[in-house]
Amino acid sequence: MKRRLLGRIRPERPKRTDIFISHGIVEEVRPIADILQKHRLSNHVVISDRHVYGLHGKNLVSRLKTFGLTVSVCLVPRGENSKSMAVYQELVNRILLHGIDKNSYLITLGGGMVNNLGGFLAATLYRGINLIHIPTSLMAQVDAAVDRKQAINHSLGKNLLGSLYSPVAILIDPKLLRTLPVRQLRNGIAESIKHALTQSASFFRFLVNNASSLRDIRFLEAVVKRTIRLKLSLMNRTNSSNSGEFIMQYGHCVGHALEHGSKYKLSHGEAIAIGMSVSAEVSLLKEFCNADLVEAHDSILSRYRLPTTIPNNMSVEDVLKIVAYDKGILCKTPRLTLLRRIGKVHESPQNSCWYVDWDVLENALRKRKKLRT
Ligand SMILES: [Zn+2]
Repeated sequence: MKRRLLGRIRPERPKRTDIFISHGIVEEVRPIADILQKHRLSNHVVISDRHVYGLHGKNLVSRLKTFGLTVSVCLVPRGENSKSMAVYQELVNRILLHGIDKNSYLITLGGGMVNNLGGFLAATLYRGINLIHIPTSLMAQVDAAVDRKQAINHSLGKNLLGSLYSPVAILIDPKLLRTLPVRQLRNGIAESIKHALTQSASFFRFLVNNASSLRDIRFLEAVVKRTIRLKLSLMNRTNSSNSGEFIMQYGHCVGHALEHGSKYKLSHGEAIAIGMSVSAEVSLLKEFCNADLVEAHDSILSRYRLPTTIPNNMSVEDVLKIVAYDKGILCKTPRLTLLRRIGKVHESPQNSCWYVDWDVLENALRKRKKLRT
């Protein structure tokens, strides 16, 4: 029997997200209160972790209340383990008991974990309530919060449960980066290095030349702005081949496997630093680039003291096994973004990613295992 098309339900246009950046926006509070006051009769929720809440949240919430707003607070333990089904479920119960409505705002105040978890809650509660991200770590300011991807982890892998959902606004305050430990700054800068390697040779040189300024807020602000602009140019690409998405995933196929395999002892930035080094080796094995590209990876990553080799307690076989569960894989063959040179992706015939044979990936992983001293 022939199928007859009766009609089509057209997809909704995704909502616009405004991204603001300014010093002291969280301390000032008014710009945030102005957004919430559009729905001043609704209950709003702030999600944060205890540490960040103590530093910035307490002041924010008590000041929001002086504007006559009703705000409740949900705090979660720090660390990637809170991006779990159990914590998600507990927060759903708490928020529903507290009472919200379709006009309520959920504000995430914290690093990438809080943004991702809170984003997934906002996307799913009542099929979607208003979401504002206030990222407080460098990783969140350059990457995790600047996204429509909201997700939690599953025991089989990272970000396996999630949705695409647009925040109403993302508010970035570079001043918040002052309180960050240096390991967290290095973690975030790995994503900036990713954008430099894949999109911009001049940004690559800027990062290489200023590695000693990692604690300088003006440098960090410049890094945040340049990274977000590069990321937006990929997110707002209008072609249908999804090439922007694949470029953003540079180093992430192996990176996610390493992060998950290390039980999150490797930070996301550390894991993708190794992942990018492996991708560079694959590019070299496939003769897409010359050895300079691999050296450039080692040079910039080591300047920021990011790892470039697989940790001693993980075997190549372990990594390959976990890669097989990565959600970026079709037909059980790993798909990797590969480079021709700094700032230039080697485009495949269809889009920006390549199907890579398991033995080639295994060879590249072994090269990044041997180097360890
Ligand atoms: Zn990432």
